[in-house]
Amino acid sequence: NYQLQQLTMIDSLTQVANRRRFDEYLLQEWGRGVREHLSLSLVICDIDHFKDYNDHYGHQAGDRCLQEVAKTLSQCISRPADIVTRYGGEEFAIILPNTTLEGATVISQRLVTAVQQRGLPHNTAPSAIVTISCGVANVLPMADYLPSDLVFTADQALYQAKAQGRNQYQAIYVMPPSPG
Ligand code: C2E
Ligand code: C2E
Repeated sequence: NYQLQQLTMIDSLTQVANRRRFDEYLLQEWGRGVREHLSLSLVICDIDHFKDYNDHYGHQAGDRCLQEVAKTLSQCISRPADIVTRYGGEEFAIILPNTTLEGATVISQRLVTAVQQRGLPHNTAPSAIVTISCGVANVLPMADYLPSDLVFTADQALYQAKAQGRNQYQAIYVMPPSPG
């Protein structure tokens, strides 16, 4: 049943694809990348200071914030092969098949700017707004790598974006395994 299958793949709060769909699509596009020698990019977006937001405004407002951000991210993505997924609590992961690291940074700058321009108030400072940080990674899928290497690298890039002051992206290539 197609409708039922759709429901099990969609995050009910934000209406973007869920974690299960992420895992499935990443494997699917990984396989295609191996067969067709196409590189694959991943962007992990995390809402900055989301815990403060929830603590200050309450969980219902937190839910609306997640919905707004999910909608804003979805509006930045135009190719049918690109998908926005809810990866964790306040984290969204975007799979960009057949997209270079350079292309993924174009998208990531778009995402950061779009959320900032949305202008949702935040309590972290007077006239503060909701922002996101993004970690970007790219890999040419092949036997030496695992899909989890792409996720791990995007997470590292996200960590760097947070450490550099948030409201920005950082990008890293998945490095070939060291010889020996
Ligand atoms: P698509 O890949 O499904 O993209 C749908 C729409 O998303 C595009 O409609 C465009 O408005 C936007 N879009 C997607 N990727 C980009 C991009 O890299 N830069 C910009 N500025 N916009 C993008 P559009 O322009 O009417 O194109 C329709 C379809 O024609 C595209 O569907 C794609 O299949 C093909 N196409 C158009 N231009 C190119 C191109 O330069 N290279 C390739 N490989 N395909 C293209
Ligand atoms: P651009 O619009 O400045 O996009 C630069 C690069 O960002 C693209 O390189 C692609 O790697 C990435 N990118 C931009 N939009 C999207 C998107 O919606 N999804 C994904 N996955 N990646 C995106 P690329 O593909 O080599 O395209 C180079 C230039 O060719 C684009 O510069 C744009 O001017 C044009 N182009 C490519 N595809 C389309 C299209 O479907 N429609 C239109 N109107 N222009 C396109």
